Parts: sequence; structure tokens; C-alpha cells
Amino acid sequence: MQSRVVVLGAGFGGLEFATVLSDTLGDDADVTLIDENDAFVFGYSKLDVMFGRAALDDVRLLYADFVKPGIRFLRETITAIDPEARRVTTNGGVHEADVLVVALGADYDFDATPGLAEGGSEFYSVGGAERVRDVLPTFTGGRVIVGVCGAPFKCPPAPSEAVLLLHDYLSERGVRDQCEITLVMPFGTPVPPSPDTSAALLAAFAERGIEFVPSRRVSSLDPARSIAVLDDGAELPYDLFLGVPQHRAPAVVLESGMSEDGYVPVDSRTLETRFPGVYAVGDVATVGVPKAGVFSEGAARVVATSVVAQLRGGAQPAAYDGRGSCYIEFGAGRVGRVDIDFLTGPKPTGTFQEPADALVAEKQHFGASRRARWFNH
Ligand SMILES: Cc1cc2nc3c(=O)[nH]c(=O)nc-3n(C[C@H](O)[C@H](O)[C@H](O)COP(=O)(O)OP(=O)(O)OC[C@H]3O[C@@H](n4cnc5c(N)ncnc54)[C@H](O)[C@@H]3O)c2cc1C
Repeated sequence: MQSRVVVLGAGFGGLEFATVLSDTLGDDADVTLIDENDAFVFGYSKLDVMFGRAALDDVRLLYADFVKPGIRFLRETITAIDPEARRVTTNGGVHEADVLVVALGADYDFDATPGLAEGGSEFYSVGGAERVRDVLPTFTGGRVIVGVCGAPFKCPPAPSEAVLLLHDYLSERGVRDQCEITLVMPFGTPVPPSPDTSAALLAAFAERGIEFVPSRRVSSLDPARSIAVLDDGAELPYDLFLGVPQHRAPAVVLESGMSEDGYVPVDSRTLETRFPGVYAVGDVATVGVPKAGVFSEGAARVVATSVVAQLRGGAQPAAYDGRGSCYIEFGAGRVGRVDIDFLTGPKPTGTFQEPADALVAEKQHFGASRRARWFNH
């Protein structure tokens, strides 16, 4: 049975889904993969760009290199999704699907935090990371706030990594003593499912004199007074504000009628939406797992296996297990890991691996293996 599969978004989820279909079905696959960008960038590469550890050109993985049997990549902007009809409109035309996979990620809602666009910087987009990279060398002292503006947000350990790497950056430039670093986060601990990971991060903050403000989010900025206002009304002065903006599904998804409370609800075992033949994977969906690439990838594999089984008549995959490992930069070149299990037990659990040289190599392998698998280099 031939089936037109249309995949929206070529991030962790879309790339992995298309790769599994191509690997399994080869030229028999009929997959159209659509993204408006010309390149994929790993989330963690934004931290490398921000602190000048990597040039943007070196971390951009061009979709022109995503060449696989049975896959057609189209660089188009999706402007409308009709989930009932499984019809997608882009600036290039209309695409009809038998199976539709929505993997459009989470977008940033700057307007949800008054003052953020004028008064702060963000490091969660590629453009934002580049702007911070250009501002940091001019910063010679004062108060820096890394502030999360709302949950859920991508890669919960990333703001903690940012303050630890910022400490290194300012120390290397010899200005750390003239600086205060504060992290504001809407969780009680840095990585709530893993008390050991949280304890290690809190110890690392304490050693470096980094202040951690738990259970708070930044609700607005007052750029005229250089004040960050927290959700309990507390005011924190800053000289440099590095924000994690509020997230939500891209506008085209919100307008499609698929979303509830900002994201697309799915059956967390199968990633099916309430529309027949329509799946949502990764950050765009409400699955009950953190918004991180490893989870998008794992969910995409389940959907890909299920679609192959429908086309070829094989067994359906086991339910999505919500397991994934995240590498955490602890500063000074050290990397730890947290292994998270979100769905198989009664509550999420996380196991911490202490920073070790082997984990530095493992993180490099994580990136290199995806680069090879998806982009053939
Ligand atoms: C600073 C930072 C550090 C991170 N570190 C890690 C980490 O160490 N490990 C980890 O697993 N995750 C990490 N993440 C999170 C990770 O990057 C995301 O969770 C992951 O990319 C989500 O994958 P996805 O496939 O769901 O969506 P995305 O990868 O966001 O892909 C969505 C795609 O849809 C496209 N798109 C959106 N709207 C449209 C439209 N209208 N038309 C056409 N195309 C569109 C976008 O261009 C994008 O390519 C980090 C994120 C950040 C910001």
C-alpha cells in the first residue's frame, strides 16, 4: 500500500521520523518533509555560539545534505494546517497527506513578557544566541540575570548550564569579581525529577557564588529602570538580562484547531492526535515529557515504526516510554548526564551521572552520530 506521508518540521522529531521511514522503506517511502529553514542547529549548539565556543557556520547542518531514498525535502513556510482533511498549505502550494506528522517544535512568545523584547536578550534562538555573543565581550561588570519567563521551556537544564558557562566566560576575561550572577527558575530545584542532579547543580552554583531563585518566573522587565519583575512582585535589578522566553506552539498550529492550552494534545503512548491519521511529536505536543530533542526523537521513532507497520502490515510498536538522557555542561569543560524516565513509573524519575571525561566524549558522540545518520557527514 502506498501512502503519502507529509512531515511538518525538520527538527529532532521530523529528521528522525523521515530517516526511519527511508531506512525501512527505501524508495517505496513517499515522504515529503517541510521546513522553512535551510539548516538544523542542535539546541545545545546555541550555548556554544553564545559563549564563542563555536562559529554558527560550524554548527549549521544544511538540509541540502539530508538526502535519503524516498524523502523529498521542501523549504517552504507552512501557513495553514487542516487536520480533518490532512491538507497543508505553504507558501509553495498545497500538500495532501494520508499520514500527517506535525513536528513543528515550540515557538517563543516574546509579547507574553512585557519589556523582554526591548529590555532583555534571549539565548534560546540562533539569532538571540548570536546577539548575546556580540554583547558579552562588552560586559565588564554588574548584575546578570538568567531568567526563565514561563514553563514549560525547552531543555530544563539549559538555564543552569548557561549560568555555569557564564561564570567560566567572565572568569576567563578577569571580570567575574565585578559581576553577580542570578538564575531565576519556575521550579523548586534545577532538575525536579532528579534530586541528585539538582543537588550537584546547586553545589556547583554555591561554589561559584551564583544565586539561585527557585519557584519564580520573570513576569516582566522594566527596561527604563533595568528591573526584572518576578511573579510574586519582587523586583531584581540587572545590568544584563538573558531570558528564556515563554514558549507555545507555532502560530500555524494554534490556528489549526489542533491545540489546547498552547500545545497539541496526544495519546502519550502512540502520539496520535484526535484527528485520524494525524500525529504530533516533540515540543509541539503535550506528551507529559520535557521539551528536549531526545524525547522528540524517541517519540518520532514510535510513530515511524507504527506507520511502517500500517504500510507493511507488521506489528505495532510498544508504547512510547518517555525515556531520555540529557548531557549537562557543568563548566570547566566538565559534562554530567541525567537519565530521565517520565512515563513508565507512577512519577518521573531521574538518575544522575557525575561529570566525567567519558561523558564529554559521549556528548560529542551524541551530536556526531546524529550528524552522520541524518546528514551523511
Ligand atoms: C539552549 C538550548 C539547549 C538545548 N540543549 C538540549 C540538549 O542538550 N539535549 C536535548 O535533547 N535537547 C536540547 N534542547 C532542546 C531541543 O533543541 C528541542 O527540544 C528540540 O529541538 C525539539 O525538537 P522538535 O523536533 O520537537 O522541534 P524543533 O527541533 O524545534 O523543530 C521544529 C522545526 O519546525 C520548523 N517550523 C516551525 N514552524 C514552521 C512553519 N510555519 N513552517 C515551516 N517550518 C516551521 C522549524 O524551522 C524547526 O526546524 C536545547 C534547547 C535549547 C534552546
